[in-house]
Amino acid sequence: MAKQQDTKKLFEDLSGAGKSIGVLTSGGDAQGMNAAVRAVVRMGIYVGAKVYFIHEGYQGMVDGGDNIEEASWESVSSMLQVGGTVIGSARCKEFRSHEGRLKAAHQLVLRGITNLCVIGGDGSLTGANLFREEWSGLLEELVQQGLIDEEAAQNNSELHIVGMVGSIDNDFCGTDMTIGTDSALHRIIEVVDAIMTTAQSHQRTFVLEVMGRHCGYLALVSALACGADWVLIPEMPPEDGWEEHMCQKLSENRADKKRLNIIIVAEGAIDCHNKPITTNHIKELVVSCLGFDTRVTILGHVQRGGTPSAFDRILASRMGVEAVLALLEASDSTPACVVSLCGNQAVRLPLMECVQMVSAYVSLIFCRSFENNLNTYKLLSYHKADSELPNSSFNVAVLNVGAPAAGMNAAVRSAVRVGIKEGHKMFAVNDGFEGFYNGQIKEITWGDVAGWTGQGGSILGTKRTLPAKHLDKIAEQIRIHNINALLVIGGFEAFECLLQLYEARTSHEDFCIPMCMLPATISNNVPGTDLSIGADTSLNAIVETCDRIKQSASGTKRRVFIIETMGGYCGYLASVGGLAAGADTVYIYEEPFDIRDLQSNVEHLTEKMKTGIQRGLVLRNENSNENFTTDFIYQLYSEEGKGVFDCRKNVLGHMQQGGAPSPFDRNFGTKIAAKAIQWISRKLKESYKDGKVFANTEDTACLLGMRRRTMAFQPVVQLKDETDFAHRIPKEQWWLKLHPLMKILAKYKTSYDVSDSGQLEPVTRGGESGAAG
Ligand code: ADP
Ligand code: ADP
Repeated sequence: MAKQQDTKKLFEDLSGAGKSIGVLTSGGDAQGMNAAVRAVVRMGIYVGAKVYFIHEGYQGMVDGGDNIEEASWESVSSMLQVGGTVIGSARCKEFRSHEGRLKAAHQLVLRGITNLCVIGGDGSLTGANLFREEWSGLLEELVQQGLIDEEAAQNNSELHIVGMVGSIDNDFCGTDMTIGTDSALHRIIEVVDAIMTTAQSHQRTFVLEVMGRHCGYLALVSALACGADWVLIPEMPPEDGWEEHMCQKLSENRADKKRLNIIIVAEGAIDCHNKPITTNHIKELVVSCLGFDTRVTILGHVQRGGTPSAFDRILASRMGVEAVLALLEASDSTPACVVSLCGNQAVRLPLMECVQMVSAYVSLIFCRSFENNLNTYKLLSYHKADSELPNSSFNVAVLNVGAPAAGMNAAVRSAVRVGIKEGHKMFAVNDGFEGFYNGQIKEITWGDVAGWTGQGGSILGTKRTLPAKHLDKIAEQIRIHNINALLVIGGFEAFECLLQLYEARTSHEDFCIPMCMLPATISNNVPGTDLSIGADTSLNAIVETCDRIKQSASGTKRRVFIIETMGGYCGYLASVGGLAAGADTVYIYEEPFDIRDLQSNVEHLTEKMKTGIQRGLVLRNENSNENFTTDFIYQLYSEEGKGVFDCRKNVLGHMQQGGAPSPFDRNFGTKIAAKAIQWISRKLKESYKDGKVFANTEDTACLLGMRRRTMAFQPVVQLKDETDFAHRIPKEQWWLKLHPLMKILAKYKTSYDVSDSGQLEPVTRGGESGAAG
């Protein structure tokens, strides 16, 4: 609270009374646009503004009439999970002309709409920027033409515009992720996974074309996520002779017992002479040079289709709310802005600069996120001959600890390959520390981890066993195998393990080696990191299931679903999953509740059901309250809802832990593990003296986590103070800030911390901004 008081802004003081906001989607559609529209409408209504849909993009604004329609709370119900855009999008030639924009201005003035939320790609936002720059001139013209009077011109003298980037290409400078990109990656990876199984059986080569005329982001990131053999993107035209180079790589990979090859080509791929590289050309090449059975798949609009991923829904919902806040705070002197995400933090960027960057065609390679992906891809994709590799003579062991989480295998693969490239001998440990003290430790090679990125669960095997009781035996194994460094991948237990080993350094010199842990758990309850590997996959599983459960009731009477999620005491999955699934209420341990809360929640839902809303969704984290169990809540809602709605209960259970890893988890695991191994190499060098490794300082037993915008190595012992060991959660959790959003969007009055938002940031932030940094 104190923090909020310090700043000028207080959420409770923000009022949209008397304001009108128009929301439109324009240009190419993208999954998640509906979530953004929903958030704008609900947040707008929440603060007392009037919100208007502008159907069919700028065309609707130019044409007016029924295209501009006031939105209600209920009118955006059940659209969160729908792909595309419900309010329609179009390309509008007229808006490109002055006459078109004049007509559009007239339509807005007629309705007193002076706040616009534009959701679209760079074209749409360029148009928006122009429109705002011309606004006062347009009003003058309208007055001169007698279409509006002076008073109307006065009353509408300021046009405020906020943009949200909806584009599957992720081709916008200044933003980490655009709305739709994550979902498009989901579609691509689903196809690649499916193709992999058939290619596996027939020993085939697949050439896959993905969207991206000017931007290779989708191609590059999906190549990283599936461990493709080769990728071709517009930003990186290959040098002459690439054909031979590629064929050589393909045949080497085959020789390495790989039964299939995947080549990913961005739509706009070119060679260094600006000549397009087509999928057919590649196919002919592979067939004529290598004689491999080769097929071409062009993904096309599949990538824009389907339901939005959990991340896109959350991103779009957050952006929608931020957009309304930005509009409320806008004045004539503040420039139009784009709301966007940097790391996991919402930011505002000046629209004009963003647009100029894109139109000046600053190569997107310079965007941080792009570069980071590119470097990791390069690191992992080219296998040099052993004789060309350096030899560090260090041995590094990798193990999984705790419950399996999707993306663990991608992390192990990446660690093994980067380790080998750094010249280390890599050792795989089976079954966590139990396997460790039993000596289940074996060298693991480049080829052993082929195809691991897409595999769910833990291939190494994982156990919850903590090392404290087996220190002597573990130390013995370290000596036997001459292990010089440890990489532990796992959840809260992995953190405890590392702490125990660190503390045992005083009694066992064998533990005086560099040790690093990577957070991997669906619960996302590890201190020192905002996100852990596996949480995204789990969120998607929860959201998909909620969609299905909600759909199961269509055509029946009003129904409320009570759904229990995992997470131990950590409410991340329930809270953030609830935001993505459009929950009415979420019960988490972090936000204590009593019988009065339960009662008012039931009443709230009953009221909503009377307004025509058919379905209710209530999420409950498994340990949210010892006595108010899922059964109790189910029975309470059943009894109190009698006559208005009926109830069903679902405990999601282990489906949250299984499944193929999401594109994000594959790449997060891959990138974070690469970084960890590079750190280990550095620490090994620093601590190698007189023929042995000796590392006993705090900074040689670290957790690598994502903190806001940066990746940070943090000594585990320093994280102790930040940890609530009894409940196995960090004492502070960033996502609790998002919890009120879910409530606002579910029509609850609540408070929302707006102290962080507001400042406009410069567009180019170079290396320092990124989660990668
Ligand atoms: P996207 O927004 O997905 O990049 P487009 O480039 O097709 O898609 O732009 C969508 C619409 O935005 C166009 O049909 C047009 O109405 C408007 N628009 C695009 N560029 C401009 C511009 N330079 N001036 C005015 N309007 C524009
Ligand atoms: P990098 O992490 O290398 O910058 P990415 O392109 O993979 O590049 O992602 C950019 C940022 O967007 C990440 O740092 C992360 O904060 C965020 N992000 C993207 N996808 C997801 C997701 N599915 N879940 C959570 N965060 C995501």
